[in-house]
Amino acid sequence: MIAVINRLVNLGEAVVQQVQLPLTGGIKCFSDVLRIDKIHATVSGNKWFKLKYSLQQAMSLHKTTIVTAGGAYSNHLVATAHACNSMQLKCIGIIRGEQPAALSPTLQECAALGMQFHFTDRISYTDSRKVFEQLQQPNAYFIEEGGSNECGVKGASEILQLVQNDHTHICCAVGTGTMLAGLLQSAKPHQHVVGISALKLSPGNTIEAFIGKSTNNKKNYTIHYNYHFGGYAKKNNELIAFMNNFYTQTGIPTDFVYTAKLFYAITDLAAKGYFPANSKLLIIHSGGLQGNRSLPKSALIF
Ligand SMILES: *Cc1c(COP(=O)(O)O)cnc(C)c1O
Repeated sequence: MIAVINRLVNLGEAVVQQVQLPLTGGIKCFSDVLRIDKIHATVSGNKWFKLKYSLQQAMSLHKTTIVTAGGAYSNHLVATAHACNSMQLKCIGIIRGEQPAALSPTLQECAALGMQFHFTDRISYTDSRKVFEQLQQPNAYFIEEGGSNECGVKGASEILQLVQNDHTHICCAVGTGTMLAGLLQSAKPHQHVVGISALKLSPGNTIEAFIGKSTNNKKNYTIHYNYHFGGYAKKNNELIAFMNNFYTQTGIPTDFVYTAKLFYAITDLAAKGYFPANSKLLIIHSGGLQGNRSLPKSALIF
């Protein structure tokens, strides 16, 4: 059963690439970038890890439909659409907001993969499980937005199996915190997990409560909340310029919602001496590149 889920992606592509941050000037910090963005073009790295056990559970319960939720540019929606398409499961997306005049490139791809849409106003959307229940789909299985559930944490805890886990710091982008919770689960006590929030939040939020609950209150992590560039999916010219420069210097493409903010932040923290001498960083490139389709074509050089 898990074989069909495993065949969706190519884990052999998840190479480790070395970069020295900051790229120019200052004390260099040794960093390994784990390229789980490369395991599939759109079943973007961390989304596959977060989905696999939910899909497995749905299959073992003989469900025939997957229902999940997301916004018009959601990496999770398109990953779910791909997975359901390959697994011959019916797939319904509860989409945040009213039906637009033109579908985003992400939703067009979802539709081409057979996903049906249920557009939902922003207030009802905040309780997407309730929307799911109201749909009364027979034999359906609900997966939370972003694959954010205990299955998601379990899947994400397997990411570190791809590397020789000898780093001092493990750095990742944070949306719902599911990936961070999984990494923290499998991190060793002396390793510190560094999260960069893509959302404009303050410490002591529900994400931290979720992480605490799913890791038995492990404390060896820090989330930085000052690299969101104005909030979720917000960007400015400095971030876009950073993405192009980072690509020129390293050959690593990033997405403006999560991984660009991650690499920007780690570069900035390294330049400011946040990481002690002889630190060995692992930076998770969690994918998400399909989201760049919402940018003007001329913005990026990759
Ligand atoms: C969804 C996503 C994240 C956030 O993961 P969470 O588990 O929700 O914190 C990070 N990076 C990319 C590329 C994503 O698509």
